[in-house]
Amino acid sequence: MKPALFLDRDGVINVDHGYVHRVEQFDFMDGIFELCRLARARGYSLFVVTNQAGIGRGYYTEEAFHALTRWMLAEFERHGAPITQVYFCPDHPTHGVGPYRRHSPMRKPGPGMVLKAAQDHGLDLARSVLLGDNLTDIQAGEAAGVGACVRFEPGHVFSPEEHMIGHLSELAHWLPAVPGAPAVPVAA
Ligand SMILES: [Mg+2]
Repeated sequence: MKPALFLDRDGVINVDHGYVHRVEQFDFMDGIFELCRLARARGYSLFVVTNQAGIGRGYYTEEAFHALTRWMLAEFERHGAPITQVYFCPDHPTHGVGPYRRHSPMRKPGPGMVLKAAQDHGLDLARSVLLGDNLTDIQAGEAAGVGACVRFEPGHVFSPEEHMIGHLSELAHWLPAVPGAPAVPVAA
């Protein structure tokens, strides 16, 4: 069983401008590709777990989300850090429209997306790491049994005790090399 690095999207991979759904709005966070290359080199598979209630609220469509995701995944490929799979939850319990208005175990702070990824890919959650910018990300990871759940707040003082980082490069602290990890070139 392999460990994984679970990444929230808005506020971790890209700057959270609020309901980002077009390429022009998507600004990659400083250091995200370097972090993802490092994680892969140390033996971690990469997953994205993202609430996308903007779909449920009717702000943008699932098709728009998928188009943006395809572009994002191509950018990660191009930077030598391919992501294995993206999990998203379009629902919202009170603001969702029509079928999107529901309580979903997939929506963070629920652990559903992380558990689904573990089931789909045979992941070792105890050795896995989750990175998010909201408390609900941390709650989802902890509920799923992810070994290390770390919060990212740009500019925050690095605090291993509080599981807080202020720059993405600092997550390396929680990414020990997995024994027997296939050598993946770090440079790209
Ligand atoms: Mg976020």
